[in-house]
Amino acid sequence: MVQDEDLLLALLNSAPIVDGKKVDGLQGSAGREFAQRFGGTGSKTEIAHLQQMRSALHEVIRDRGDAYAALGSLIRDAILAPEVTPTGIRWELHTPPAERLAVRAAMAWSNVTERLPGRLRPCANTECNLFLIDHSRPGSAKWCSMTTCGNRMKVRTHAHRRRER
Ligand SMILES: [Zn+2]
Repeated sequence: MVQDEDLLLALLNSAPIVDGKKVDGLQGSAGREFAQRFGGTGSKTEIAHLQQMRSALHEVIRDRGDAYAALGSLIRDAILAPEVTPTGIRWELHTPPAERLAVRAAMAWSNVTERLPGRLRPCANTECNLFLIDHSRPGSAKWCSMTTCGNRMKVRTHAHRRRER
């Protein structure tokens, strides 16, 4: 597993559609808990950075318009500094404290797309706003979750076929 893959996926999936409406899972106490779960403080600025990063990453993954520039400006102040240790060179991430979590998510996105090309995808259900990282061997996973979208879409296809007959 790529470092911070869980942070990346949790961030991407923190804006689910519930009853046809997009819900922001980073608002209020849920946002604070989210940030703290991954080592942040949950400050307002930190949450704002996470929200901006989330929409930039959504756009980049969906390959929309000017998304790369937006992502670039969100990580502009991040620096990787080398630190020599007996076991080799380690790259230490330096960012303004409130931007750290968002930058870590961006780096995880970069790692995933490099190491698992094409495996980070939006859920195939167009009414779903969740993403998946496909670790299956054939690489044919389509749904954020088999129990929710997978089954729902199967039922729909089935009903559609029956109607056609
Ligand atoms: Zn889904």
